[in-house]
Order: sequence, then structure tokens, then C-alpha cells
Amino acid sequence: MSTFSDLGLPEPVLRALTESGYVNPTPIQAAAIPAVLAKRDIIGSAQTGTGKTAAFALPTLARLGPAGGKPRCLVLVPTRELAIQVDENFRKYGKHLGTRTALLYGGVGYGAQVKALEEGVDVVIATPGRLLDLHEQKILDLRSIQVLILDEVDRMLDMGFIEDVSRIVNYCPKDRQTLLFSATVSDAIGRIAGWALRDPVTVDVRTGTTAADTVEHAIYPVDVFQKYDLLLDLLKRSGYKSVIVFTRTKRDADRIAEWIEGHGTPVATMHADRSQTERAEALAGFKSGKYAVMVATDIASRGLDIRGVTHVINYNVPEHAEDYVHRIGRTGRASAEGEAFTLFSPDEMHHLQQIELLLGRPIERRKLEGFRYYSEPQLTPGGSKAAAGPRKRNR
Ligand code: AMP
Repeated sequence: MSTFSDLGLPEPVLRALTESGYVNPTPIQAAAIPAVLAKRDIIGSAQTGTGKTAAFALPTLARLGPAGGKPRCLVLVPTRELAIQVDENFRKYGKHLGTRTALLYGGVGYGAQVKALEEGVDVVIATPGRLLDLHEQKILDLRSIQVLILDEVDRMLDMGFIEDVSRIVNYCPKDRQTLLFSATVSDAIGRIAGWALRDPVTVDVRTGTTAADTVEHAIYPVDVFQKYDLLLDLLKRSGYKSVIVFTRTKRDADRIAEWIEGHGTPVATMHADRSQTERAEALAGFKSGKYAVMVATDIASRGLDIRGVTHVINYNVPEHAEDYVHRIGRTGRASAEGEAFTLFSPDEMHHLQQIELLLGRPIERRKLEGFRYYSEPQLTPGGSKAAAGPRKRNR
């Protein structure tokens, strides 16, 4: 996996990233950053939550360099909320460059926005209506814009901003760099890209995914104290031929193995506290089919190529996002179909977010029908407890 410095970002930006606690770029960042630094135009299909703001903000800041005076980057967004978020990102990543931003949106007075523009800014983040207002009043001049970023263009279209957006694009210099981001890329978006962009590179986060495409994976939200019971039910109903259950700790591995064996199924156990002989016996037994279930810590998630594993169940959400990809990669090998399920309790939200960030999309939440949940599982990523229908987006 690449690092931010491999991607060619300058030291002041790298320092800000370290302070933000970011370790690795997300797929859209890894794909978009080098292209933006190479001054290419981009069509990025990515939703919020994939790290897309940093994907355009980081290389743009690198391109702009130290603070200047005239606005050199314009970010056009559909809503005030998004404008505020984008502004926070630019200020966070640009703080060691001294980058100055102006935030322009409607519904508030002009005073502070005009003052910010008069004092000199590098990056303007705006919603279309207010921007045009200030442009008509000649308070804002767009002729110095070098990088134009159109964010959430599908929403701008839905909100009827297309004419405003077109006018604004035409006020910017022709030799600018243009980055267009949209969650969906429809024909209408394609047409905008056709006249507003020059020879664009397409960056689709779905192509950056490393999870085996033949694996269907899902999250089962459940309270932590019901995990054992849900695991047993899930095992019974999954129709597995050969399953690996991953746990975070050696203690959990032993306890779960005991629990499953207590219900009549022999289990192979793999973790670092077992002797080499015990581990070899467990692995050989699992490979030969003597054991249909193996309980393991991450010691078994990397490298082992065990054919015919039909299911992987994560008893815990892995702490390191890459481990998730390694674990689910234990099934679906050599194009065989596989299923991977993860039991997720609310205290594991942070780890799950990191995984979804790495994959570039949310993982489907499921409820095990017929299981007696003590509390209704939350099936919307980070949202309300509304029951969502099955979605087929994780294949
Ligand atoms: P966005 O898709 O731009 O709304 O970003 C989603 C969230 O991910 C934001 O809270 C960012 O601060 C965070 N984020 C962006 N890039 C990274 C990264 N490389 N590592 C960790 N978190 C990140």
C-alpha cells in the first residue's frame, strides 16, 4: 500500500496529515492525488465517506504552494453544510502553508464574506448563488483561478444549479485545471464533463478495491453480549462446508472454540499460544476436512491459501482495516464463491469506519431473521435504526 509521501505530497502537507492521524491514503486518494499533481483534469466518482475531500484538497494545496493573495482555487458545492466541511478540510491540511480560505454561501450577511475576499484568499469555497452575486458585484474576480473543483455535481444538477454552474465555469480561465466529483456519473454529468473538462482521467473508487470480487460480505450488527448466540445461529444457517471464525484475541479464540465444540461440532484452533505441533495438526485437519470449523486469530489471516473455504466469520471487527481484506480473502479464492460475515457491536464503530474508508464504500448491514435480538440492530451505516432492505452493492 502506498503512503502519502510516496504520492509526492510536500512536507508541510505531510506534517498536517500526520497531525490529523492519517496513516494511509484511501483508494480515491491513492488514485486521484498523483493525477492532480500531474495537472490532469479528473472525473471522480465517489461518495462522501471515501476520503474524497482530501483526495482533491491535498494535491490542490500542494499545487498552489505558499499563500499568495488572489483566489487560485475555487470549490463549488451544492450546500452550505458541505461548504463548511470542505473549508475545514482545506484549513486543516493547509495550515502549515498558511493557506487562506473564504467561505461563501447564502442566507447570511455579506459583511464577513466581503471582508475575507478583500483581505486576500487562496481558496474560495462557495455555493453557486452567492458566488454569482459577489461576482456580479465585482467583489470577486475569477480570472486568477488555476484549479476549479466541482463537488457533488449530481446534487447540484438535482438542485437545479446547472445554469449557474455553467456560467461560473465560463468565468474561470480556459487554461485552468478542473476536477469534477459526483457520486453517480450519468449522461448529464458526462455532458458537463464533455465541455468543462479537458482529456480527463476517470477515477472510480470501485476499481481501487482489493477485497476479492467473488466474496459476498455483510455486517451483522448485534449487542456485544449476544455475539456468541448470533455466531452459533449464523453458523447453523449459513450452510457452510468449511468456515474460519476470526477473533481478535487468543482468549476469545479458545472460548469460542469451546463454545462451538460444546454444541457438538469439532473445531481446529489456531493462535500464537498453541505449539507448532498443535497448529500443524489443526491446519492439516482443517485442510483435510476433519474439521469443518477453524477458529483463529489473525495469525491465520495472511498468506495461508486454504482451498474450499466457503465462509469467513469475523467475531470482532478487525482493528486494522487491511486485516479485514486479508481475512475475507481467505474465502472466494481462485474465483470460488465465498461469503464473509462480520459481527459488529456499537463499540466497534471506529474500526468499521476505517474499513469502509479503505474499501471506498459502505458494507451491507443485515439482520438474521428469526434470531431473538434484545435490541433492534441498526441497519443503516451511521444512521437511524430504520430497517433497510437487502442491498447488493458489496459484490
Ligand atoms: P470525506 O469522504 O471527504 O467526507 O471523508 C470522510 C472522513 O474520512 C473524514 O472524516 C476525513 O477526515 C476522514 N479521512 C479522509 N482521509 C483519510 C485517511 N487517509 N485516513 C483516515 N481518515 C481519513
